[in-house]
Amino acid sequence: MRTSSVTAAVVALGTALVAVVTTSVGVAPAHAAPSCRGDRITVAELSGGCVVASGSVVLPDGRVFAVPDAGTTVTALPVATTTGGDPGDASVTNTGAAGIAVAVDGRWSGAPAAVRRVLALREGRVAAGHGAGAGAATTGTGSAASSCTDRSYTLLAYRWTRDVRWWSNPTGAKAADRVAIRAGATAWSGRLGTCGRSITSSAANTWVSTTARTPAVSSTGGCGDPDRRSVTGWGSLPAGTLATTCVWSQDGIAVEADQRYSTRYAWSSTATCSGNRYDLRGVATHEWGHAYGLGHTAASSALVMKPAAAPCDVAQRSLGLGDALGIDARY
Ligand SMILES: [Zn+2]
Repeated sequence: MRTSSVTAAVVALGTALVAVVTTSVGVAPAHAAPSCRGDRITVAELSGGCVVASGSVVLPDGRVFAVPDAGTTVTALPVATTTGGDPGDASVTNTGAAGIAVAVDGRWSGAPAAVRRVLALREGRVAAGHGAGAGAATTGTGSAASSCTDRSYTLLAYRWTRDVRWWSNPTGAKAADRVAIRAGATAWSGRLGTCGRSITSSAANTWVSTTARTPAVSSTGGCGDPDRRSVTGWGSLPAGTLATTCVWSQDGIAVEADQRYSTRYAWSSTATCSGNRYDLRGVATHEWGHAYGLGHTAASSALVMKPAAAPCDVAQRSLGLGDALGIDARY
């Protein structure tokens, strides 16, 4: 399992590198270092290789990211409604001197030198056995409909080396949130008992308290300025996005994970969900999968990590086989 996962990652890296070379030839500007400062720096501007110390980057899909510190990657991980269209995972890596690399669902753009550097570092971590890194290390097949026969999962480019200490901000909550979001966090921890298997996960979290701090997730679905506190909360997100998790990592080690749940939709936190509401515990389980380092599986999969949720999808509260194998591979 681990061997095939790493092999898949390396194959994916090779594909990505080819794509990068093609892209950089296509979009490299004639003039070096355009105005890469201030707010809403575009990906086309980043492709000039400029060094960016502050401000924000806007992706072609409209998501805005506060520029992370040099040496830091920020990744935005949404869950969509089944009718909304999945915006995909997006990451922004500030390499410092080599500029900023951007990835949306594994498609790279930004400064070519930064992209090469990020991919080389990830490949090094894979080779050193620190975990797969391209966000594309799918294992198994995703065709089976049953959550107990589908072994697929994907691993993102970070993991935690300690428990996730987190706070919750109930301001504006559309359903009682503390118990439901905590259940989502703990679904991935300890002895999982998924599908009759004995799998033990060392992924761990500690809920500290409620807080007045707000999660650094923006209404565009991008990520704001981190404060080293992992916080869950509520607010506006683009139509079609139920929730977004932002994770900041350095050298593949996660340091903060914030979650925003959309106030645009009706939510349920009752044991038996009913009506045109989204099940908070189920969606929170998905978002915590992202927080711990799992990416999306195929839309057709019946796993927690499928990219979109339907109203009252209470099945998403329970890990499927691929979900459990994924968290076991990472922890
Ligand atoms: Zn997601």
